[in-house]
Amino acid sequence: MSLRINNLLNMDPGDSDKLLHVEGWVRTKRDSKNFCFFEINDGSSLKNLQVILDKTNEEIIVIIDKISTGASVEFIGELVESPGKNQKVELKAENVILWGESPAESYPLQKKRHSFEFLREIAHLRPRTNTIGAVTRVRSALSFAIHSFFQSNDFLYIHTPIISASDCEGAGEMFQVTTLPLDKVPKGKDGLIDYNQDFFGKQANLTVSGQLEAEIYAMAMKNVYTFGPTFRAENSNTSRHLAEFWMIEPEMAFCTLDGDMAVAEDFLKYIFSYVMEHCQEDMEFFNKWIEKGLTDSLRSIIDSPFSHMTYTEAVKELQKDSSQFEFPVTWGADLQSEHEKFLTEKVFNGPVIVTDYPKEIKAFYMKMNDDGKTVRAMDVLVPRLGEIIGGSERENRHDVLLNRIKEWGLNKEDYWWYLDLRKYGSVPHAGFGLGFERVIQYVTGMQNIRDVIPFPRTVKNAEF
Ligand code: ATP
Ligand code: MN
Repeated sequence: MSLRINNLLNMDPGDSDKLLHVEGWVRTKRDSKNFCFFEINDGSSLKNLQVILDKTNEEIIVIIDKISTGASVEFIGELVESPGKNQKVELKAENVILWGESPAESYPLQKKRHSFEFLREIAHLRPRTNTIGAVTRVRSALSFAIHSFFQSNDFLYIHTPIISASDCEGAGEMFQVTTLPLDKVPKGKDGLIDYNQDFFGKQANLTVSGQLEAEIYAMAMKNVYTFGPTFRAENSNTSRHLAEFWMIEPEMAFCTLDGDMAVAEDFLKYIFSYVMEHCQEDMEFFNKWIEKGLTDSLRSIIDSPFSHMTYTEAVKELQKDSSQFEFPVTWGADLQSEHEKFLTEKVFNGPVIVTDYPKEIKAFYMKMNDDGKTVRAMDVLVPRLGEIIGGSERENRHDVLLNRIKEWGLNKEDYWWYLDLRKYGSVPHAGFGLGFERVIQYVTGMQNIRDVIPFPRTVKNAEF
């Protein structure tokens, strides 16, 4: 493998006595009489490598003329001390290979700052920009950190299915998966679609969550996690919703809500510390250009213990001065993002975990409290964003779960295996979920979720 630019920039001039080959794409070119300056980038760091090429012969001059921004090049030369103050070293090249030209008159990326909207239209070229490059590195580092956290804590990585034919997810609008001919859908005598003729012999959808399947594996492997794509046919055009996004869902057996909250706190602190340490340059870039105060706010989350309060206490707190909110605060209604921000930014000045929500606003599988009104749910709220993690202890009592399923008007036959888990070796268990892109948004300060995933899928958009 040839050397990457991030490594070169950290070397000292004498570190290599061989001629170096450096490959990348040209960001800028400055031509003068006897030599030419280039800045090249290969995605390994925010910083470019500066290259000086002497115009020693006619052949090189001809090539230099053909090189412009966006071209792919390979420089051959030695690393020397840089007289410039922005970098320690630069490459003094003696030769160049022009791999691919990039016609200046049509290359869409100009030196000026482009809007993120425009960059989405050229998603095939946007990773060559500083911001999207930095997002790409942070996204990759965060993925690694997530696996590393769970793996080093003896969690097993479980691949839950992407196509789900079990009817029990029910959350949100789903994308149907079918091989039935859309222009001639087979119908039964009752006039309904005959799914017996469909590929799976029944209706199937893209998964909206891997939780229920993760629970199956937690009931054998104790601590597991899923980290995979999920799909929601959300017809909402917001800066926080995608139709295809990645979700992280740990599930732990022999674990109650307290253990769940402790893992959630450790997890966030671990992944935030990881990017602060491994993506310093990119994080400083985000802090400077995208969201001022970003790194301080992440550091304060890493350093402070999370506060705790129940939903009922939260409502009381918010009701002390509810006139400042747009949405009313009443017991039984879900907390709005303005409420969540108030709690984290004004009341606690840091992360807070709110627990024991009214059963009506949470899922059927959450463990019922003795009051019969609230469930063992928890939301982790953080400043700037509000909810970042949602989790719960699961209902592990067969009879109570069966009642909940009926209460919700769900079909108990559809949940036969989920109920079975409460029949054979049931044990308190808990887990949580978080959307990967929301985490990246939080860590980078990027406003729009479409800019933290390489190829966003949203309503009316699946280009690239
Ligand atoms: P929201 O209220 O923001 O729509 P939700 O309550 O529908 O979220 P959950 O069903 O709890 O979300 O999903 C778990 C996590 O997945 C959320 O906390 C969020 O981080 C993320 N998430 C949910 N929907 C989307 C989406 N359409 N695009 C990206 N991430 C999402
Ligand atoms: Mn939603």
